[in-house]
Parts: sequence; structure tokens; C-alpha cells
Amino acid sequence: MIQLNDFGREYGDIGQELLACADVVLKSGYYVLGEFVASFEKDLANYWHLPWAVGCGNGLDAIEIGLRVAGLKAGEKVLTTPLSAFATTLAIIRAGGTPVFVDVDVNGNLDLDLAEAALSADASIRYMVPVHLYGIPLDLNRLTRIKKKFHIIIVEDCAQAIGALFDNQAVGSVGEMAAVSFYPTKNLGAIGDGGAILGKSESFRRRAMSLRNYGQSSRYVHEVLGMNSRLDELHAAMLDYILKYQLGKYITRRKEIAATYLKRIKNSLIKLPSIDSACQPVWHLFPIIVSGDRQKFMDYCKQNNIQTAVHYPVLITDQKALSSVRFEIYGTLKQARFMANHEVSIPIHPYLTEQEVECVIQTLCFYT
Ligand SMILES: *Cc1c(COP(=O)(O)O)cnc(C)c1O
Repeated sequence: MIQLNDFGREYGDIGQELLACADVVLKSGYYVLGEFVASFEKDLANYWHLPWAVGCGNGLDAIEIGLRVAGLKAGEKVLTTPLSAFATTLAIIRAGGTPVFVDVDVNGNLDLDLAEAALSADASIRYMVPVHLYGIPLDLNRLTRIKKKFHIIIVEDCAQAIGALFDNQAVGSVGEMAAVSFYPTKNLGAIGDGGAILGKSESFRRRAMSLRNYGQSSRYVHEVLGMNSRLDELHAAMLDYILKYQLGKYITRRKEIAATYLKRIKNSLIKLPSIDSACQPVWHLFPIIVSGDRQKFMDYCKQNNIQTAVHYPVLITDQKALSSVRFEIYGTLKQARFMANHEVSIPIHPYLTEQEVECVIQTLCFYT
């Protein structure tokens, strides 16, 4: 089976190095918020060319912390997308915000024309959580203009997009803060849960450090009600290794596979992502749009030993968990709904072999 992720192969490749990282942490006898988290935060901020990074328990918490640090108050509106991991919206709600959903574009990313229209129509929207979905960056020039025009505060959800560039600018550098997840399947994946919030303002950094650790400003002094959302030393040591020695290679390989797919998958029933020349995705996922019966296509792939998935089959606005929550929808969610019904993700992890890539291409080209 050609899998969507292959952790066994990653273990074969760097298992010994990760075990060595674990050994150093175990021997240190210090497991929470120590020197490994501090070094990883420094290295991550340097990698991202941002002033600071604060490690958190996961990506969900990183977004919540970002919004709380930025001053979001109960009931304030936050513009976002209905097509994402549920965590994007859950973080907004947990931070006290009221999500305002706007439709997506042909690639499934937040439609910035509609976002601008929503911000023009409703001046009470002061925050925005855009998502660089599938690792495909939004138009950052456009996002910059929107931010300046409406003076909104942006926390970019970069959970799927670490390393992605638009016009040579990194995702996460337009907003006040960038949130990232180290969930195992993400491009920079841990061996469990982890996340980080990155930003520019020093006062935001101090508040993020406090919020992740019970709202503690100095030992046993609590000025706000915080969370327990700390990154473990064990994860930080391994993540630092992957960041330094593997992430660049992983991203290069994902881009290589995507370029091959874009060039060679030819089938009138399959629509590939359409990528602007300024846009440099990191391909966390490779989404395609399939005409006709999606389940039939997925069954066909399975019969040909190719694992597929759907990102995402249900819009966030349609989730039962939101039935008792205040939210708004600007316009219609027609394109998002279309994506939810027709998107399929095909394998693109960095440990795919040439033969496997070839097999995916042939299988998709011969689908009828
Ligand atoms: C994975 C993900 C999150 C949440 O990250 P966790 O670490 O799983 O909490 C948020 N947003 C997006 C777009 C994601 O893909």
C-alpha cells in the first residue's frame, strides 16, 4: 500500500538519531521547559526569520494563545475559513471569539476578495485567522494590503505551511503572529503533540510564555488565567534535530513530487491545484478535485494500493459542535461546499520512492 504517511520509513532513516536525542534529554533529568525547548525556540525563530518562537502543547493551543495575546475579547469577531482542520475554529471559540466564515477559492484557500468584501461590510471584524491550507500559501501581498487597509490583527494558521513562500516572503510574516503544529503528520512532525506561536512584538512574547504556563509571570505569580500548554523537552530535542537536518530535504522532496504530479497527471476527470508563479507551496497535502463519484475514485485507488483521504469532508459550519455556538457566515460557502464534496488527497510524503510516484501517476492517468 502506498501510504499517505510512512513513519516506519522515517524511523528507518533517522530513528537512531532521534533515539540519541531522547537519550540526552533522559540523562539531563530535566523534562519540561528547559534548555532543549529554549534552543528549539531559538532555532525555529531563526529558520522562520522571525524574532521569537514560543513552544506550546499543540497547534490548537498555539492559535488560542496567539489570539489571547493579541487582546481578543469575548464576543469579538474573527474572520476565518470554513474549510480547515476543526482546530482553527475551535481555537477562535476557545479564545472567546465569534467566527465569521468566508468562502474559499479554487484551491480551497480563503478567498481574499471575499475576505476584503466582508471586512468592508462589517467594521466590527477586528481579527483574522487565515489558513495556508494544504501548504499552499495565500497571496501575502494581498494579505498585507488587507491588513493595512482595515487595521486588523492577524494570527496566521501555518500548521500545514512551515517553509512556504509567496513572492519570496514566508507565510506567517504578515500577521502579528504565526501558529504552527508539530502533530506527527505535519511537515515538521514530532513523535506526539506539539506546536508553537511565533511573532515580532516582545510584549506578545512575554504574554505567550506566561499563557502557556498557567498565566504565570514569574514563579508562583499569576496575573492572568493561563493554560498548561508546554512543549516537552523530549519533543523539542527531536524537533530541533528534524528542523536542522531533515526539514529542508523533506520540503524539497515534497516539491519534487508535486512538480512531477502537476506535469504528468493528465485526466479530464481530475483537476490539479492551480499554482501562481509567485506561490511556493510546501505541499503538506496534494489535493485534487475529482469529477463524478468520489467514493468510486477512492475505491479505485485503494484497489490499486494507493491510500487516499479527504481534507475536509464536512465544513466546520456544518459540524454539530457548532450548533450551540454563535457564528456568522458572510455570503455563501458554495466553493467550500464543492471542495468538501469533491476533494481527494493523494500521497505526497517525502519517503515516497520514484516507483511509488510513478504508480500514483499511472493509476490516476488511467482512471475512467
Ligand atoms: C493540524 C492543524 C491544526 C491543529 O494542530 P494540532 O497540533 O493538531 O492541535 C490547526 N490548523 C490546521 C490547519 C491544522 O492542519
